[in-house]
Amino acid sequence: MPQMIQRTETCPICRMPVKTDGAEYVEKREGRLYFFCAPGCRDKFLAGACCAKPKGRWGHFLDRLAKANAKEFGTSGPSCCN
Ligand SMILES: [Zn+2]
Repeated sequence: MPQMIQRTETCPICRMPVKTDGAEYVEKREGRLYFFCAPGCRDKFLAGACCAKPKGRWGHFLDRLAKANAKEFGTSGPSCCN
């Protein structure tokens, strides 16, 4: 059995690690490949939701908002956008 190096990328929606090898949900944007853990995450990405998250203060604010929501409503699934 050959030694395979498992490469993983982070799902930009829910921050889950995604194996790039044989990844099912991949999108290309601005010359970059994005790997998604689930079709739902890819859909959110395609909808232009949180993945185009601005950097800086606004992005920081959104992060805090997402964390606050997670605290209040729990994280039962990939849901960084709402
Ligand atoms: Zn995901």
